[in-house]
Amino acid sequence: QAKSRGGNCYQFYTEEMNQKVNSRLTLENELRRAVKNQEFELYYQPQVSTFDNRLLGAEALIRWIHPSAGIVSPADFIPIAEETGLIREIGDWALLEACKKFSEWNNTFALDMTISVNVSVRQLDDAFVLRTQEILNISQLDAKYLELEITESLLLDNVQENLRILDNINKLGVRFAMDDFGTGYSSLSYLKQFPISKLKIDRAFINEINNDPEDEAIVRAIIALAKTLRLELVAEGVENHQQLALLQALACDSYQGYYFSKPVPADVFRQRYLEQKPPLQKSLQQQ
Ligand code: C2E
Ligand code: MG
Ligand code: MG
Ligand code: MG
Repeated sequence: QAKSRGGNCYQFYTEEMNQKVNSRLTLENELRRAVKNQEFELYYQPQVSTFDNRLLGAEALIRWIHPSAGIVSPADFIPIAEETGLIREIGDWALLEACKKFSEWNNTFALDMTISVNVSVRQLDDAFVLRTQEILNISQLDAKYLELEITESLLLDNVQENLRILDNINKLGVRFAMDDFGTGYSSLSYLKQFPISKLKIDRAFINEINNDPEDEAIVRAIIALAKTLRLELVAEGVENHQQLALLQALACDSYQGYYFSKPVPADVFRQRYLEQKPPLQKSLQQQ
C-alpha cells in the first residue's frame, strides 16, 4: 500500500505509530521492573457445580499491581510477556504462588477441589516439567490438586514437542484443561492426542446463549463431545440466571463467572468461600 501511495514508505511511520512503539517499549521495561520487584498478585475465581453451587475449583488469575497505574489486567500485559520471554519468570511465580496458597488452604480445610493455573505455551519446555515437580515439592502439594489451563490454538505450532512435554507433566499427576475451547483453529483430533481432561467452553458462546440459537447449538455440541470423550466441562463467563438455567438444562456440570463470583484476592477467597462455605443452592428444577 505504501508503494501505491507513491512509494514513500515513511508515510507509514506516523506520530501515532511512534507513540505506540514507545509505549510498548515503556511497558516492556516496566514489566521487567515488575518481575524484579514482584509487583504481581493472584486473584482467585471459583468454579462451581451448575446443579448446587458446590465449590469444585479455583482459577488463579494474575494481576499486575502497577505502582502508579493501579491494577493492570493480564489481557494488557501477558501478550507482551509472551513476546519478550518474560512469561517464563512471571508464569513460574504464578505457579509457585498458587500452589503454596492452595496447599496452605488445603492444610486448614482439607479441600475437595482443584487449583487451576494458566500456562502459556511459551512456557512449555523440559525445564518447565522439572520446575513443576519442584514447585509441587516446595509447596507440599499433591499433584492431583493441580490443573494447568492451556489455550488450544497455540499448541499447533510445535505439536510433537508440546505433546511430549504435556505427557511428561501429566505423568507427574497434573491434569490439563483446554481453555477458551471452541475459539481456536485446532482440529478435534487434539483432544485424542493431548492429555486433556477438561474443556472450558469459551465465554464467547455463553454470552448470547439465550438469544442466539447458533451459540446454543455450539454449546450443545461441545457438551455432547465432552460426554462422549469423558471430559469434564466448565462453562466460562456465566453472568446471569438465564444462562445458568439453560446450562443446567443442557446438563453442563460446572461453571465459572461473575454470576457466582468475580475473581477475588486470596484472603477474600478464603474468607468467603472456604471459611464461610455459602449454603448449597437447590437445583433450579427443584425450586
Ligand atoms: P482465561 O484463562 O480464559 O480467564 C478467564 C477470564 O475471564 C478472566 O479474565 C476472568 O476474570 C474473566 N471472567 C470470568 N468470569 C467472567 C464473566 O462472567 N464475564 C466476563 N466478561 N469475564 C469473566 P482475566 O482475569 O482478565 O484474565 C484474562 C486472561 O489472561 C486469562 O483468560 C488468561 O488467558 C490470561 N491469564 C491470567 N492469568 C494468567 C497467568 O497467570 N498466566 C498466563 N499465562 N495467563 C494468564
Ligand atoms: Mg484460564
Ligand atoms: Mg478462558
Ligand atoms: Mg483466555
